[in-house]
Amino acid sequence: MFKKWLLMITSIVLFSVVGAGCASSDETEKQEGKIVVTTTIGQIADIVKNVGGEHVEVTALMGPGVDPHLYQASQGDIQKLSKADMIFYNGLHLEGKMGEIFEKMAKNKPTIAVAEVIPKDKLIKSQSGTNAYDPHVWFDIDLWSYAVKEVRDELSKFDPKHQQDYKKNADEYLKSLQDVKTYAQQQIVQIPEQSRVLITAHDAFGYFGRAYGIEVKGLQGLSTDSEYGLKDVQSLVETIVSRNIKAVFIESSISEKSIKAVVEGAKKRNHKVTIGGQLFSDAMGEEGTEEGTYIGMYKHNIDTIVSALK
Ligand SMILES: [Zn+2]
Repeated sequence: MFKKWLLMITSIVLFSVVGAGCASSDETEKQEGKIVVTTTIGQIADIVKNVGGEHVEVTALMGPGVDPHLYQASQGDIQKLSKADMIFYNGLHLEGKMGEIFEKMAKNKPTIAVAEVIPKDKLIKSQSGTNAYDPHVWFDIDLWSYAVKEVRDELSKFDPKHQQDYKKNADEYLKSLQDVKTYAQQQIVQIPEQSRVLITAHDAFGYFGRAYGIEVKGLQGLSTDSEYGLKDVQSLVETIVSRNIKAVFIESSISEKSIKAVVEGAKKRNHKVTIGGQLFSDAMGEEGTEEGTYIGMYKHNIDTIVSALK
């Protein structure tokens, strides 16, 4: 008798699951029941994956090697953004060419700039004056934690049924971020104080430098949409020679050409400076690798910087 009941219940459940699946092909495409989220940079997608867990389906528009400052949305991107239930982007003009698109999307769905919830007095002001801020906030773990909490709160608002899960996941993720911060602090003290100078292609590491007491210099400014000139190269070469700097770094999302010009310039002054390795600045590594996660790329940067400068 019991077996017969069980069989009946199983078939009813099975039937309704299959039935629901057939109800709309659009829904199955969205993976039944999951919140479809589209983000710009991978660092934000990493937050949503970790905090949203099994309840979200996340796509980042900007993959490995992609420069967000110059990024123009393709037709396919617009489609992904239109199909999404929620959109998370950085803001503070990181995605300089996408402002209009976000404005449009915000009329129909939660479209959230995660970096813009950080209190303004904690941000680094752009040197060009005006009211612009350095958008590369993910390099300061305490600031990035605001973004994690914002994702948690927005997911909970959108899907209150699972807010306990979002809270638990966010707590765990925030804890692992603090562990990375501790790791970074322990590693960076190995670099002699006078060698704590980080030279890269563009000014992406301002928050990183401030958080760990490293002086940072970029050939290009906060955005890559400004050209650098011979004068910028010369002034960077001057710093390298006068401070006896041993290594400079390339970035995965920016052409190596600019940094190679600096290395060449130093060579002409009889100062040998090497390329200390590739850092992940505005884009993360390949999906499926360590560096394809926020924590993995952060550790990669720390290890690369420390081994080249210590
Ligand atoms: Zn940048």
